[in-house]
Amino acid sequence: MTDLVHQQIRELRAYQTVPFTGSVKLDAMESPYGIPESLNSKLQKLLGSIDVNRYPDPEAAGLKQKLRDVFQISDSYLITLGNGSDELLQIIQLLVGGYGRTILAPQPSFSMYEIIARYTRAQYIGVDLDVGFELSESKWLEAVEKQQPACVFFAYPNNPTGNFFDPALIEKTAEMIDGVVISDEAYFAYSGRSLLSAMARHENLAVVRTLSKSGLAGLRLGYMISHPVWSVEFEKLRMPYNVGVLNQACATFALDHWDEICSGIDSVLSERERLSVALSSFKDLQVYPSETNFITVQVTGTTAMQVFDGLKDRGVLIRKLAGMHPMLENHLRISVGAPQENDALLSALSEVLSG
Ligand code: PMP
Repeated sequence: MTDLVHQQIRELRAYQTVPFTGSVKLDAMESPYGIPESLNSKLQKLLGSIDVNRYPDPEAAGLKQKLRDVFQISDSYLITLGNGSDELLQIIQLLVGGYGRTILAPQPSFSMYEIIARYTRAQYIGVDLDVGFELSESKWLEAVEKQQPACVFFAYPNNPTGNFFDPALIEKTAEMIDGVVISDEAYFAYSGRSLLSAMARHENLAVVRTLSKSGLAGLRLGYMISHPVWSVEFEKLRMPYNVGVLNQACATFALDHWDEICSGIDSVLSERERLSVALSSFKDLQVYPSETNFITVQVTGTTAMQVFDGLKDRGVLIRKLAGMHPMLENHLRISVGAPQENDALLSALSEVLSG
């Protein structure tokens, strides 16, 4: 059987998640806040009234209109929905990637760009970030010029480094190639910055976002905003009915109450600042600035593995970044949680680092 599995896929490692039964889960950039309790009974009633024997609206017209209203998306663009933005990243590569094509991204960045490139048998080229996770303009432009990629991914801001890339460089990239340039704005709820308005200047620039980081990770809803010439093609690769009827209803409901759903965002942002300061006080940690709902740290006095294991033993799960890229060997990524979760992290960290 394995002879039949393409070499490129056999060499891949599936996307990593760690099974966890502890109480403080700070590994996946989930929001600590879900649907507010005050909305629960209304939502239950709505979900109870849905005919699950019927397929969902394949176009999800109502949900798309809500997205347009809440995020001020112009009618000049079309929206493609995904079962999480992961699925959209796959649709993009199915369209323009594959054998003989090149996918380009700064690296380290979100691991699915490369995983999808590999299993669709495209060539993936990562342009290494410099110290401080900065992208060198000259190095980047040289790679774009040389590779003429079919698709470029910018995580804006970047996961796992937490910083932005220069938007002018993203626009310049779109000018230089015929391929599609994706601004992956998974952390938009926290960063507030977008390339959406730049789309008016570039037909090959598209924006991908998700509701996952705003308290709705379990829903798996991503949306892509692109020019109609591209959207028409993307739609051909989207599985019919890829967003289930309960998910459509729940997401529409959430968007109808968006201010309440987002009421935890400010708290996460102020906790991010508190946590950054507190983490910086450990002499064995170097803390990177973040425009997201996670904080990346470099461990200096001991190993990241020891810190990761020590926290896990104390019921706190974070993400180790070793293995992703040589520059992340001794790095960890910590999602910002609710105040009591962050307190639990800090006290576990004191024990681990003092022991
Ligand atoms: N893009 C980036 C940059 C991410 O960090 C993530 C999730 N960690 C995703 C996309 C995928 O998010 P989802 O599939 O939950 O929408």
